[in-house]
Amino acid sequence: MKEKKIISAALTGNWGTKEISPAIPMTPKEIAEGAYECYRAGASIVHLHMRDDQMRPTMDVGRFKETIGLIRDKCDIIINITSSGDHTVDSIGDDNVRIAPFRELDPEMGSYDCGTMNWMHSCVFSNPPDFLEKLGKTMLEYRVKPELEIFDGGMIYTTLHYLKKGIIKPPLHYQFILGAPGGMDATVSNLVYLRSLLPEGCTWSAAGLGKGHMPIMLCTLAMGGHVRVGLEDNVYFEKNVLAESNAQLVERAARIIADIGQEPATSSEAREILGIVKLRSEI
Ligand code: ZN
Repeated sequence: MKEKKIISAALTGNWGTKEISPAIPMTPKEIAEGAYECYRAGASIVHLHMRDDQMRPTMDVGRFKETIGLIRDKCDIIINITSSGDHTVDSIGDDNVRIAPFRELDPEMGSYDCGTMNWMHSCVFSNPPDFLEKLGKTMLEYRVKPELEIFDGGMIYTTLHYLKKGIIKPPLHYQFILGAPGGMDATVSNLVYLRSLLPEGCTWSAAGLGKGHMPIMLCTLAMGGHVRVGLEDNVYFEKNVLAESNAQLVERAARIIADIGQEPATSSEAREILGIVKLRSEI
């Protein structure tokens, strides 16, 4: 049997605008349509951020619910909700906004960012210890699989701390995001280094932002990892050419995976690889 690779599609993010790329989906309908196109192109996970009517990032439960409902009408792609979808929220004092969707919508996966960082030299991406403890406990309670997002090496050590405390439980799944100013650059040597720090028995995926997109994807596949693509991370298909859609980026990833003799994992295969325990009927 061919080796299966999980393609995760990151459709929207917090920062992209229609001015930067008109293809970035913003409304629940656009996001759901984008998710379905990515599913058809070979993605087995969709990583969701929401925007409000002014296209600002929001963690509004209603928006997530509407979008997930529209996606579920079409396909069984794994839903991965961001926990960092509102940068205006001070997570120390008002972290419930970033946690509420996990309690109320009970998704299969959610992002778990293991440290605070200076995001793009413009603001603080706040993930203090009390927030991470509360988020981790909520994810355990609702059986949400944490996607451990890693922007630098220290964050991996932080995951080991929470693993030891029982706040996150194996099998762990890591998502490296390289090339965000404030975190590690999207270089092959950084990827190799981060991979060397991972604990035994975990699964991992990587994405390079912007021009790091292709080199990190190719290197990740060569190293045995899974991949994440999408307009959240990179709006270009090639130098100076905007991607037409998220699905176009997924299609290319699926093609490269096929070219090296592997296959994109279906959603059910991805659930098995990741050890997602929720039954389909409970979603
Ligand atoms: Zn995200």
